[in-house]
Order: sequence, then C-alpha cells, then structure tokens
Amino acid sequence: MTELQYLPGVGPKRAALLRQELDIQTVRDLIQLYPFRYIDRSGIQRIADIRPDVAYVQIMARVTSAEIIKKRLSVKVADSSGEIEVVFFKGIKWMSEKLKPGSVFVFFGKPSCFNDKINLVHPEVDNPPQNGQSSPTAGVLSGVYPSTEKLKNSGITGKVMAKIMSAALSECLPDAQDNIPDYLLKEKGLVPLRFALQNIHFPKDSTSLEKAIRRLKFEELFFLQLSLLKQKYVRSNGVEGIPMPKVGKDFNACYEALPYSLTGAQKRVIKEIRSDMMSGHQMNRLLQGDVGSGKTMVAVLSALIATGNGYQACIMAPTEVLASQHYANVQKYLSTTSVKCALLTGSSGTKERREIHAGLEDGSIGIIIGTHALIEDSVRFNNLGLAIIDEQHRFGVDQRSRLWSKNRIGLPPHVLVMTATPIPRTLAMTLYGDLDVSVIDEMPPGRKPVQTLQIGQGKRFELYNFMKKEIDKGRQVFVVYPLIFESEKLDLQNLEKGYEDIVGAFPFPPYKVAIVHGKQSAEEKAFNMSAFAAGRANILVSTTVIEVGVDVPNASVMVIESAQRFGLSQLHQLRGRVGRGAEQAFCILVRDNKLSKESKKRIDLLCSTEDGFVLAEEDMKMRGPGDMDGTQQSGLPIKLNIASLAKDGILLSEARATAEKVLSADPTLSDPINEALVRELRKGKYKIKDYSQIS
Ligand code: ADP
Ligand code: MG
Repeated sequence: MTELQYLPGVGPKRAALLRQELDIQTVRDLIQLYPFRYIDRSGIQRIADIRPDVAYVQIMARVTSAEIIKKRLSVKVADSSGEIEVVFFKGIKWMSEKLKPGSVFVFFGKPSCFNDKINLVHPEVDNPPQNGQSSPTAGVLSGVYPSTEKLKNSGITGKVMAKIMSAALSECLPDAQDNIPDYLLKEKGLVPLRFALQNIHFPKDSTSLEKAIRRLKFEELFFLQLSLLKQKYVRSNGVEGIPMPKVGKDFNACYEALPYSLTGAQKRVIKEIRSDMMSGHQMNRLLQGDVGSGKTMVAVLSALIATGNGYQACIMAPTEVLASQHYANVQKYLSTTSVKCALLTGSSGTKERREIHAGLEDGSIGIIIGTHALIEDSVRFNNLGLAIIDEQHRFGVDQRSRLWSKNRIGLPPHVLVMTATPIPRTLAMTLYGDLDVSVIDEMPPGRKPVQTLQIGQGKRFELYNFMKKEIDKGRQVFVVYPLIFESEKLDLQNLEKGYEDIVGAFPFPPYKVAIVHGKQSAEEKAFNMSAFAAGRANILVSTTVIEVGVDVPNASVMVIESAQRFGLSQLHQLRGRVGRGAEQAFCILVRDNKLSKESKKRIDLLCSTEDGFVLAEEDMKMRGPGDMDGTQQSGLPIKLNIASLAKDGILLSEARATAEKVLSADPTLSDPINEALVRELRKGKYKIKDYSQIS
C-alpha cells in the first residue's frame, strides 16, 4: 500500500501534519476519518436573502470588481438580487487571476459580518453549472471533515481534503476485504464495506449515506461486543470457580426471619447470583440498583450462601462510615443465624485487629465487613468464597485483585460488584460487557416518592421555616454543600460559613446541628455521623461525604445548596439519602437565581423524575458518555469512531444480540464462514481497557 505522503495532494509536510494533528499514519487510517457533517449543496441562494447566522450559503454571482486592499483581496460579486463582498487573505495572486470581472462563479462558504456588512471569507469557488444542470454540485451532499487550525493553514481545505480522500479510496477500495461475512450482511440488511466507505465519503444520495452510516456504526459496535463477549466466554469456560451447590441453612434462617418479603427484582437477582455460585465457574457479576432498592439484603443473602457452603464472605465498602453502617445492618439480619461477623477498618484497635486476623485465618469469622484495611498484607483468609464490593468505582483494579491472593484455597472467590450509580444500559454493555449484569429495577413497596423542589437563594427564610416545621414533627434534615473551589481550604471555609448560618438560624437549645467533612479525622466523622444517625442531632451539615450509602430512615429532608454545581447523577444520589422511612420526604434544591441553560435543564429534570436510569440516560446525552458522573473514567476505555453510545443504543443492542448469536453458534469462531471476524478481531482494535477484569 502507498505511503500516506505519496498520495496525490499530500506530500511529506502534510503527511506529517496529518499524523501530528489527527493521528493519521496510513492511507487506511485516512479513509477512516469520516465526515462529521454533510452539507447539502444542491441549492443556490439569492444574495439578498443571505443572513449572517446561517452555517453556509451557496450563491452564483458575477464578479463586478476585484482589488487588493492592504493584505487582502476584496472581490465584489453580484446576482440579480444584490451584491456581496468576497474576501481572501491567502492565495491572493492566484485568486485575483481567476476571478476576472465579468465572469460568473459559484461561491460556497460561511457568511460573516464585518463592519455591519455581510461578507464571505475564503469561500470555495467553482465554475458555474453547465447547461441543464441546476448547480455544479446538484443533489450532492459534501462531507465536512474534522480539521485543525494547522491543517487549514497548510492548505488542506474541504475541497483539498475531498481530493485526497478520493485518491485514498481509489487506493484502498479495490482490494478492501469485507470484515463482516456475507451471511451476516444479509441477515442484518447491511451494505458491503466498499459501498459503505465510498458513500460515507462521497454519498450518492441521502439514502446511500444512511445505509453507509448504519453499516459502519453497526460494524464498530458489533466488533466491540464480539470482542467483549468472547472474553467473557473464555473466562466463564476457563476460570474454575468454587462450587456452592446448596442454599444452606444460614440463608434459610435469615430468609425466614425477614421482616418483609423480598421484591420481585430482589428475588430474581438472588436467583441469578445463586445459579452463578452453583455453576462451578467463577461468578463475575455487577449488581446495579438505585439507592434504596435493597441491595444490602441481596448482599447479605449472597454472603450467607457462601457461609452455608462452608466458605467465608467479605463485603468491602469505600468508607469507614459505610462499612460501619453495613456492619450494623448485616448484624441485624444475622441474629437468627450462627454466622460470626466482624468489622475491620483503619480505626480498628491493635488488639481487635489481631483477633479479627486470627478469626479470618482459622475460619471462625464467616463474614467480614471492612474498608481498605481488608486488603492489607497481614490479612489472610481461611477460605474466602465470595467478595462483595460496594460502590466499585472507588476501588482500583489492583486493590481488588489483591484480595484474591489472600486465600488459602487455590480457587478465586466469586465476585459481586454493587453499584448504586445507575449506568445507562448502553454504557453498561460496553464498560461491563464481559461481566454479567443484574439490575434491581423495583423499589420496596410503600415508598412515597420524594417531593423535589427548587428554590432561589432569596427564599432562605421560608426554607428555614419549613425545616423547623419538619424538625418539630421529629424529622431530621441533611444540608449538603458542594465542593466549589479548587482548594480544599476554601471548600472548608465555604462549608463552615454555611454551618455558622445554620447554627445561627437553629440555635441550641433546642436545635442540635452536626457537621461532617473530609478534613475531620475518622473518629470525628464517625462520631458526628452516628450522632445524627442516632437522632441526637436535628441537622447534619456536610459536603458530599454522605453521598453514598448512608442510611438514616428518620431523615426526611435533603437540602442541597448551590444545586447547580452538582452533576445530575450526584444530585440523584443525594436525594436517595431521604425517603427511606415511612414519612413524606423532601429534596430541596437551593440554586442561584441565574442559571445556565444546562444547569436549568439538569435541575428541572431532577424535579421531574425519580427514575435513576432515566436520569442516567439523560445525563449521558447531555454530557457525553466519557464524562459520566460516577463512572469516573475520564473518557471511555475505547474510542469509538462513528458510533455513539449515547445515541446509538438501539443499534448497540442489535449488535450485541448479533454477537451473542454468532458466538452461541460458533463459540470459538472456528467455522470458516466466520473467518473474516477472526481476522478483524486479530487487529486488536477492540481491546477494551480492562475495568472489569477483577480476578
Ligand atoms: P440500597 O443499598 O440499595 O440503597 P438498602 O439495601 O439500604 O438499599 O435498602 C434500603 C431500605 O429498604 C433499607 O431500610 C431496607 O431495610 C429496606 N428494604 C430492603 N428490601 C426491602 C423489601 N423487600 N421490602 C421492604 N423494605 C426493604
Ligand atoms: Mg446500600
């Protein structure tokens, strides 16, 4: 294949620029630079109708004058409706020779405004149409390519790019092999690769363009899914897991004593987990469930399957507060079983720690709950059979894998990752494509929706009165401040000022206000948190440290200060802290009076729905998947060229279903009809950075 620099119109300089600016190394890379937009060039506008705010105009006009003023070429052109100035700063000599007064050309470009007058700067210039044609580019959609300032300066205009691309296609297309086998193309009604490439760059018409786009998007999503599912297949058939054939007495004892019946979703998810743990293969499952959907129960019952089969289980939480809370909850559920449970955190005392270490090593502790302390070197398990990781995004992959090395038995434990951050389905399919995903999509019964309202800064007096009324009824209130400034010190000042305001408005006695923030010591935090949890404080002022997991059923009001500064998912997480009891709960978003369009949309949206998945989808659409709250990955683990996870959800599902079908018929892709697929996968383009490989 020709080197990029030898392609007509490129040369060594431009080749270097293409490499540097767009990471295009080869001719093949080049043809995968698709237009991001198409311009319909079939119409000709009248000069008199040109408005400065349109993206492009195309006019046919006669040159009336051309003069070089200072360093620019100013050309006046006119049609029957009026006159407009066309300006060139570069290629002046050549243009002034071409644009002879009296001759007619078609000009295509973006109108701009200069001294209150509309002009066209550096438009494309074409010869007028031949007889019988309405314009030189009638019916033509022309692609607009990604570009940069440097590329433009090197003379790679839209037109030049089209020329280069055309040369590149002539070079590549004749022997381009399709990477999707015929039988799949037929089945999915997709156009062949050559047709797609030709038409993505130079669409014959809009229908052909649509077909080309669909084919190329499908291809991209399909190979991504195929690669993920293949990994999953290899693992689920390769990695041996600990067989846990029975439900066991612990599970049953706990189940029978439950004060409520499980929701349908909880039952379904437990069944899924149980069948994984029985299978003899290692479980790698992600459990998604909105805040309050009852994940803890599922975790406890799963842990009891492990203990019932003679293995240990651990639950890892990201913070001490959460670990302690889990511990308290789990203890309650274990009262009817004989399972011993312990809590291990950074603030466990030396003696306690020693005892716990011993209990883990000799197997007398059945369930251990803790923080990072669990992965310390000195921790050894007798036989860890299940690791439950709460809020997985706060743990790194390395940290997790360190757990596995602590087992005396040779097999890796089953893994259940729980997250309360609803991840849009399309994103989950990609990020966790090789994990099995369970979703609790049903809330425990009897929960009243949280009333969400927004108020301006001016309504503070009313807000405080409302809070007092609720406190008088015996309720508790969260007041959350955002991290606003770059520096922690300023954040703290901001929070402390808020705290002082609140204390001023809610004096002791009778009111008690607690404060929790990241700068406090673990003991201080735990002390204040538990004061609030136990009902000794009416109000808890905090930063977002309470975001995840904290459960205070008596707290029915969540006040979020400067709500416009939070992301949608974060607001939703915070709101999930209330509405856990029987009382009507409220979430009050205190926002600036002036809001950006985006912020307004976010806040309105939050007021309109409580469905975390709807919010997550919307969040992704607004911000793009690389920037999702909670997933905390800067950018996606894979760069998609043409498909969008936010917009092409349906196609992604189709692609995944197709990949599943292909693999279930030919799990190792050794059938000759799938040869093209193997060839494509081998290129290694679809290797996803491994977020989910947790064993
Ligand atoms: P999550 O961890 O998913 O945010 P939790 O497990 O903390 O939610 O559960 C939230 C609350 O709902 C807890 O107080 C829990 O006791 C209660 N709960 C869980 N499952 C049920 C159920 N099936 N019926 C009634 N209440 C439930
Ligand atoms: Mg929880």
